[in-house]
Amino acid sequence: MQGADLVGGEGPELIMGDGSRWLDMGSLSYQASLGQSHAGVIAAIASQASQLCLAPPNADFPAKRELAAKLLSLAPKGFNKVFFTVGGSEANENAMKIARLVTGRLKFLSRYRSYHGATLGALALTGDYRRPPVEPALGGVIHILGEDPAVLEETMELEGPGTIAAVFMEPIPGANGVHLPRADYWPRMRAACDAHGTLLVADEVLTGFGRTGRCFGFEHEGVVPDMITVAKALTAGYAPLGAVLVHERVAEHFENEVLYAGLTNYAHPIGCAAALAALEAYEAEGLYTRAAGLEAVLLGGLKNICQANPTAASAARGRGLLGAVDLKGDSRFWERLLSALKEAHVLIHISERRGTAIVAPALNMSEEQLADGLQRIATAVATAASEG
Ligand code: PLP
Repeated sequence: MQGADLVGGEGPELIMGDGSRWLDMGSLSYQASLGQSHAGVIAAIASQASQLCLAPPNADFPAKRELAAKLLSLAPKGFNKVFFTVGGSEANENAMKIARLVTGRLKFLSRYRSYHGATLGALALTGDYRRPPVEPALGGVIHILGEDPAVLEETMELEGPGTIAAVFMEPIPGANGVHLPRADYWPRMRAACDAHGTLLVADEVLTGFGRTGRCFGFEHEGVVPDMITVAKALTAGYAPLGAVLVHERVAEHFENEVLYAGLTNYAHPIGCAAALAALEAYEAEGLYTRAAGLEAVLLGGLKNICQANPTAASAARGRGLLGAVDLKGDSRFWERLLSALKEAHVLIHISERRGTAIVAPALNMSEEQLADGLQRIATAVATAASEG
């Protein structure tokens, strides 16, 4: 995309100043679940801007009130408070603060191969290469490795029962390679948290609002967390907004205590209006079930890539419209792949460091466009693999 300005967009296509179009199979940074140019969201933003564009953090106004109610209606029974933020990192920061204040404990537990945000606290939770350059980011964060919930259980025991404020977990670690949890992971994690009085925070910043074929990713796991952090698809990317959804068993602490957590742009009217319209669109267009239905198409396309390129591609996996394949090759393979994708004018999330390609198309992309995008990716992988 380098070399020309980004000047517009239409559905899942980005339009450049030189007239070229790119098919976005990655939803930008996983937030553009409705693609570009969604008329309903744009109209809601315009109408909010002309009615009430600015509000102090403690103001009451319809879009904010309705959005909080809407989010609570989407969350499991028992969630009764919403704290708005400007994005996902800030949502996790505030969930960390809430967990410390409620439990009176300092430590957190999260996983390697996770991403929780770019601010210092969220980065401390993060289990990838972005944390070490700024260490020690925040004391008391323990990272665990592997797919086996026994590792989490034993770590919690060994860290000392009653010392961990909260476990932060992505339902599917997304940007680090789409790693689906074992079926018993979340239930056993919930049980371990209950046994130790530790809060469980589901980081739904990437997986929330239909990406996995249900509203929230944890809904596949049969477990109810204590807090849910959201951003990205909350507004489909049309305005910055994040939130922490809080269960009443956590929120009740603040009936008598103050949560010092003021943010200048708390519940910004434009973000609230965009989020309400995006959530309305997901529902009106049936996009959560649509994503579940298209899972087979996405995974089928990724499996075909593996079958056609056995030396370069393997382990197709995913849920809903979030999929990945592992890719293997020398540095020239990755250079060829990048240039073949550029040639095909298709955007996906490629990481040589992790050896993955991640695909996360807009939930409202047509089946023809989805098939076209998968075909372009397949051709690019085949080109990169064959020219070795
Ligand atoms: N949590 C997860 C799981 C994410 O994928 C991200 C962003 O990629 C974040 C948190 C941080 O969100 P933001 O970039 O909106 O601060």
